[in-house]
Amino acid sequence: MSGAAAALRLAGELPALEWVTDETRLLRLSQDFSWFSPVLKRQLEGKRADVAVKPKTEDEIRAVVAACARERVPLTVRGAATGNYGQIVPLEGGLLLDLSGYNAFGWAKGGAGRAQAGIRLGDFDTAAQPLGWELRWQPSTFRAATLGGLFGGGFGGAGSITYGPIAAAGNVLGARVMSVEPEPQVVELRGPEAMLVHHKWGTNGIVLELEVALAPALPWLEMIATFESLDDAHAFCILLHGGTPGIVKKELALLADPIPGYFPALSEHLPKGRHAVILMVVESSEPATRELVAAHGGEVTYRKDLAEVKASNRTLVEYCWNHTTLQALKLDKNLTYLQARFDPERQREQVKALHEQLSPEVMLHLEFIRLTDGRHTCSSLPVVRFSSEARLAELARIFESHGVTINNAHTHLLEDGGKLRDMDRAALSAAQRMAADAAVAMKSRFDPLGLLNPGKLRSQRR
Ligand SMILES: Cc1cc2nc3c(=O)[nH]c(=O)nc-3n(C[C@H](O)[C@H](O)[C@H](O)COP(=O)(O)OP(=O)(O)OC[C@H]3O[C@@H](n4cnc5c(N)ncnc54)[C@H](O)[C@@H]3O)c2cc1C
Repeated sequence: MSGAAAALRLAGELPALEWVTDETRLLRLSQDFSWFSPVLKRQLEGKRADVAVKPKTEDEIRAVVAACARERVPLTVRGAATGNYGQIVPLEGGLLLDLSGYNAFGWAKGGAGRAQAGIRLGDFDTAAQPLGWELRWQPSTFRAATLGGLFGGGFGGAGSITYGPIAAAGNVLGARVMSVEPEPQVVELRGPEAMLVHHKWGTNGIVLELEVALAPALPWLEMIATFESLDDAHAFCILLHGGTPGIVKKELALLADPIPGYFPALSEHLPKGRHAVILMVVESSEPATRELVAAHGGEVTYRKDLAEVKASNRTLVEYCWNHTTLQALKLDKNLTYLQARFDPERQREQVKALHEQLSPEVMLHLEFIRLTDGRHTCSSLPVVRFSSEARLAELARIFESHGVTINNAHTHLLEDGGKLRDMDRAALSAAQRMAADAAVAMKSRFDPLGLLNPGKLRSQRR
């Protein structure tokens, strides 16, 4: 029997579940936001699962997983499919396991919270905020993206300015994980062991529940400040980020001109030709923030408190992170982006030099974050005018020639993208080698048949 036929037979074996077998719907469910990249768009177009299923209980998930293992059907976990690198695109067909229906909120207390993996991040916060807590990271996709998807494929978001990325020690407390075997095992992994499943694109275990550390829910104020000079705007951000411990912040993004021109809905707050800073600070930090803006020659052009944000149902977070790219793409399809991280010690000169050298082909977009070791810096999702794949690669090299780290956003291979890039074993430290070995052991433990999201690990390509 062909792989597709075996996958379809599962629907007949478990008729009580919610299945999708229609080709058009399968194609839609099998694609994510990898079309941001012209490279991935070309490589992944038309790839789809043979069948999709949306289980609602752990027993239903277990029944599907066991059947896939028995029939050797490849299995790709899907949250909300907001990933950027084709992480949920099933390269070898098989079954798409849509976990968005497995979404119950558990609890939030004492600075921690727990929920099923398919819960939307926005729904988690809606449940946790009245209890005084909220997630430590709010990616700009928070309305749709799931907790399991953020853990499996994401980095962080608003909040990473204080708490760093998801990967920072102390952020994730535990994960309940299911293996892919004829008799699936379910194990609660704690602390560092749980982190071995983080950002593995669903290749080494199915996360059923997550327990995460939470932040206090605070009355966040959303503001825009605009500046004549990019260097002044950047100096303001560096000081606000690392030099003002009394100002409590959740988000800080710098959008170099002409990016603000791509936000028509905010045009009255974005004078032409000026660079924009989007920020979220706690309400009581407003006077000190305004003083800092003025001291750097900036002007506050937009201010909404939490009640106004809620009433308008518009948040500036949806102009930050990769929503900046999305807003720009709505007006101009010939744009794409890079993913970069500036050096904490040299970010000011690096930003200045790259802007002078590459603007307007490259429009700088900086997100201020803390690294896993606590240092303050900015990551960057610059908006790029696309001309060719060769030029895109050349632009990445130019960034690197200035000492800026590039994480390849135009690959669907896990090792070639973010953190695992250039992991030549000989070049690894002893600790990194141990972590790499532990990740391999985790793969054998939770996916001994190699059925999870095949084709995404370079080491596993058939
Ligand atoms: C416009 C835009 C803005 C974005 N902004 C941000 C941002 O601010 N910060 C950020 O970090 N990312 C951002 N992203 C990337 C993406 O939204 C996040 O990674 C998001 O959290 C993914 O969640 P999801 O539910 O859509 O996951 P999916 O795309 O469905 O899945 C992501 C990966 O995780 C795996 N996975 C999903 N659920 C599970 C599970 N239960 N167990 C095991 N593996 C699982 C999948 O197999 C896949 O490989 C952005 C993307 C877009 C398009």
